[in-house]
Amino acid sequence: MAKRDYYEVLGVQKNASKDDIKKAYRKLAIQYHPDKNPGNKEAEEKFKEATEAYEVLADDQKKAAYDQFGFAGVEGMGGGQQDYSQVFRGFEDIFGDFSGIFDTFFGGNRGFRGSGGGQGGVRQGANLRYDIEIPFKDAVFGTKVEIQYSRNESCPVCKGSGAANGAGRKTCPTCQGSGQVRHSQGFFSVASTCHSCGGEGYVIEQPCRECGGSGAQKKRQKIMVTIPAGVENGKRVVIPRQGDAGPNGGPAGDLYVFIRIKPHEYFERQDLDLYCAVPISVSQAALGADIHVATLDSKTIKVKVPAGIQNGKMLRIRDEGVPAGGRRGNLYIKLMIQIPEKLSRRGKELLEELAKVEGQNDSPKPIPLSTLGE
Ligand SMILES: [Zn+2]
Ligand SMILES: [Zn+2]
Repeated sequence: MAKRDYYEVLGVQKNASKDDIKKAYRKLAIQYHPDKNPGNKEAEEKFKEATEAYEVLADDQKKAAYDQFGFAGVEGMGGGQQDYSQVFRGFEDIFGDFSGIFDTFFGGNRGFRGSGGGQGGVRQGANLRYDIEIPFKDAVFGTKVEIQYSRNESCPVCKGSGAANGAGRKTCPTCQGSGQVRHSQGFFSVASTCHSCGGEGYVIEQPCRECGGSGAQKKRQKIMVTIPAGVENGKRVVIPRQGDAGPNGGPAGDLYVFIRIKPHEYFERQDLDLYCAVPISVSQAALGADIHVATLDSKTIKVKVPAGIQNGKMLRIRDEGVPAGGRRGNLYIKLMIQIPEKLSRRGKELLEELAKVEGQNDSPKPIPLSTLGE
């Protein structure tokens, strides 16, 4: 069954207040609560769906992640009905010019559990998220960035099981192996993940000394991330299997590197095209000129300014834009005519001469605004 949008599930608008969200959930929870609908699978599903939606939308951080990234943003952060645990972690900064801004983990136990009532479930490790900010030019031409972060690796002593050599596991005494406990919340009860066993349903009789029973060891890791040419702001690069190791030898999660692009002082970008503006003089605009313009990749190109060009007109230079997918966009140069604020004596004489030749037009007629160059 496809997952329904959380707002749709609760029947609230995106801008609904916390109170409205709570009210909407309360209504659904009363209607579909399993204790009121014994044996009704559909009601149970509806109850779970509403609870999951509520747990995300009632939490500012999860709500923000959901609004921005949809289900992927809150994957594994979900409801108490799920076998998910919520994890947050910081990342340290990375070197030099790039700042690694840390954030949340949005990964989670998206893998599978063992079918034996949670005994020793093998699951995929959490996905990790890393944010980087890269210079405009690097985003256009592509780059490699070394990032440093820490991830959970499987403990080498217990191979991720968390149990000391030969020690077994026993059913969790708190939840009797179900991985969930029920709490009364006012007029109804809600199941949530058991804290004694973290939802696993079992506890280790004798924890591994190396890892204290977690089965994981935190390790610093450096990796080189290739940022493709033409990458867009907000896009992410996924590096498979570089997230946390999975419990009990499960596969590692992925590392998501989110890219933010620093604006450039002079260049702007629209899809594959680059834009910049250069000043020209009144005489260059009137007479035409060859000018030299620096491109984003620090080449100098010769550009012919046609005689009689108007202020704000754009010249197109083919194939000097963003390279991506085997082609390249264009560079657009906007010409900004600079009227001299101070004239030399000679300059003034020449312009006065020009004014005489042109004749005085002291009653100009309006022209359409659309003729202004853009
Ligand atoms: Zn261990
Ligand atoms: Zn338990």
